Amino acid sequence: MKILVPVKRVVDYNVQVRVRADQQGVETTGVKMSMNPFDEIAVEEAVRLKEKGVATEIVVLSIGPAQAQDTLRTALAMGADRAVLITAEPNPEPLAVAKLIKAVAEKEGPSIIILGKQAIDDDMNATSQSLAALLDWPQGTFASKVEVKGEEVEVTREIDGGLETVALKLPAIISTDLRLNEPRYAALPNIMKARKKPLETLTPADLSVDVTPRLETLKVAEPAKRQGGKKVGSVAELVEKLKTEARVI
Ligand code: AMP
Repeated sequence: MKILVPVKRVVDYNVQVRVRADQQGVETTGVKMSMNPFDEIAVEEAVRLKEKGVATEIVVLSIGPAQAQDTLRTALAMGADRAVLITAEPNPEPLAVAKLIKAVAEKEGPSIIILGKQAIDDDMNATSQSLAALLDWPQGTFASKVEVKGEEVEVTREIDGGLETVALKLPAIISTDLRLNEPRYAALPNIMKARKKPLETLTPADLSVDVTPRLETLKVAEPAKRQGGKKVGSVAELVEKLKTEARVI
């Protein structure tokens, strides 16, 4: 069984993001970039399925600038077998990304595609759902447990009311939630080995996918600064302030 894992290069989760002067996005020059944390969980899950003898090959895929190679090498060091880089700058929007993943899936024929539930840079949470619609495959989003059982995969999903378990016929799409697993750190020998693993580079044109944006960014802005808290003397004063100052009741 082959597993395809799309991984995105994003601003590292420890970095305090800054809006670019032109208000068209966030600053990425000179900023530490890393694999999207939910994608690390996706790679880890694929590696665990391989260690259990369920999966035989893990292909990782990234769409982005040439530097996304580093993200792919990290995934290879964690245990993926092969990587595909589709160079595209700026990063295409989710529908175009989903079309590119679909094109690779049609070439590779994976039984499972595991994505992150969302990329932490733009919090779109749209790619896995778009991909499932384009491929017309069943999907289990926000997975906290994955079990392959013959021709099906059982996915436990984190939903508002608790947990929901769905059985999906393979091939299927899964998106990871935070509690699915704790990703491993790649050991040094594996980082060295990863340098020699195959990495194929393609362009959207090679896959006949049009990545022309359909969305227009009007403006990216910092959130409003938080005001300091105030102590109130009584419930009556609190109600009064909620009415007259916060104007929420
Ligand atoms: P999003 O819908 O943008 O929040 O992203 C959800 C998931 O889609 C991510 O966690 C990745 O698994 C995948 N994805 C999104 N953008 C890319 C990209 N440029 N390259 C590879 N995978 C991506």
